[in-house]
Amino acid sequence: MTPAEKQEFFYAFSFNLINYLCPMTIDYIIVGLGLAGIAFAEELIKQNKSFVVFEDDSQNSSLVAGGMYNPVILKRFTPVWNAKEQLETALPFYDHLETKLGETYHHQVDIYRTFKSVEEQNNWFTACDKLLLQDYMDPELVKNNNKFINAPYGSGKLRQTGRVDVNKLAKDYRSFLKKQHALVESKFEYDQLMFFDDYIAYQDFKAGKIVFCEGFGLKENPFFNQLPMQEVKGELITIHAPDLKVDYLIKSAVFVLPIGYDLYKVGATFNWKDKTKSPTEAGKEELELKLSDVINCDYQIVGHSAGIRPTVKDRRPMLGMHPKYTQMAILNGLGTRGVMVAPLMAIKLFQHIENGKPLDEEISIKRFDK
Ligand SMILES: Cc1cc2nc3c(=O)[nH]c(=O)nc-3n(C[C@H](O)[C@H](O)[C@H](O)COP(=O)(O)OP(=O)(O)OC[C@H]3O[C@@H](n4cnc5c(N)ncnc54)[C@H](O)[C@@H]3O)c2cc1C
Repeated sequence: MTPAEKQEFFYAFSFNLINYLCPMTIDYIIVGLGLAGIAFAEELIKQNKSFVVFEDDSQNSSLVAGGMYNPVILKRFTPVWNAKEQLETALPFYDHLETKLGETYHHQVDIYRTFKSVEEQNNWFTACDKLLLQDYMDPELVKNNNKFINAPYGSGKLRQTGRVDVNKLAKDYRSFLKKQHALVESKFEYDQLMFFDDYIAYQDFKAGKIVFCEGFGLKENPFFNQLPMQEVKGELITIHAPDLKVDYLIKSAVFVLPIGYDLYKVGATFNWKDKTKSPTEAGKEELELKLSDVINCDYQIVGHSAGIRPTVKDRRPMLGMHPKYTQMAILNGLGTRGVMVAPLMAIKLFQHIENGKPLDEEISIKRFDK
């Protein structure tokens, strides 16, 4: 046998072996079923691609998220990056999921930003005049009539805000995929991935592409863990406060988000040191202390949860294909705003992978090559 014949024999042999070992041939494998994984799976369904998702419950950012969306950064009264385009994609995305899964996830919730001083009131009015913020900020000062809320300087009301019940959506989406036999509930073991010229093989599957959507789980991914994720842990408590009677989100030292039945989610902490996803006594104390500045009625803590937000130093998502293994791509870095960002990023990544559409520099992982 000549060396060329030997090589041909070897390729034919491996091809047959892989076909024997991996009987399931699909277009995509997705690793992770948080908001990123759900958004990418939906894009694949829209584009008639076959796929399977691996999910191991190692992370829970999407499961604990408050689920709010809001086009304004409330610390500085500046617009959220690309807010208009994100909202235009995100709202129909969640409405479509409601129709498809026959449940309600998207709730209209107003946000009232409490002012700490006259200076803050003035900053609000100045921001309301700005072209990019006019659609999102109401110029009326809202006086506080609820004796259980501490807001002597009143509040400003935001427009085009709401909440997605991400926990319910994620659980329902899992059941939906299970019924389609498109979910494998186990850890994706990176060292078992095999690469071929234009496909990859993993356990029973042979797929054209693999997309990693692992949130903070990225740290364990040897192909992409050099990317500069700057994760931040967040904790939330759920309180039962029957006297409060509020149907909008109060944004002050913490947010107080009504979720029905006199229950409110209160959050969230930002901890850059603790990398565990377990709730802590310190987190709870911090939230209770801040909450005492916001409301003054009795309440009972009925829940406490925590998760790690997959944030990036420059506060932009991380999308793109692996520089060496072009069968692999990543959709991550959704940070503190996964609800708004995920659907648009999934579309952009799909167009990039399938149609070679370039990714904007600010979201592409290539920005870290420099
Ligand atoms: C306390 C808190 C409050 C928040 N509030 C809001 C909010 O109000 N609004 C908002 O828009 N965003 C909010 N966020 C941020 C939001 O949760 C994130 O932007 C978003 O959920 C990230 O989604 P993801 O899919 O990238 O990551 P994740 O939700 O972490 O999903 C990644 C998934 O991958 C799985 N996985 C990882 N590795 C593997 C592996 N090897 N094999 C198999 N599966 C794997 C994990 O189990 C996980 O399910 C909040 C976050 C926290 C922590």
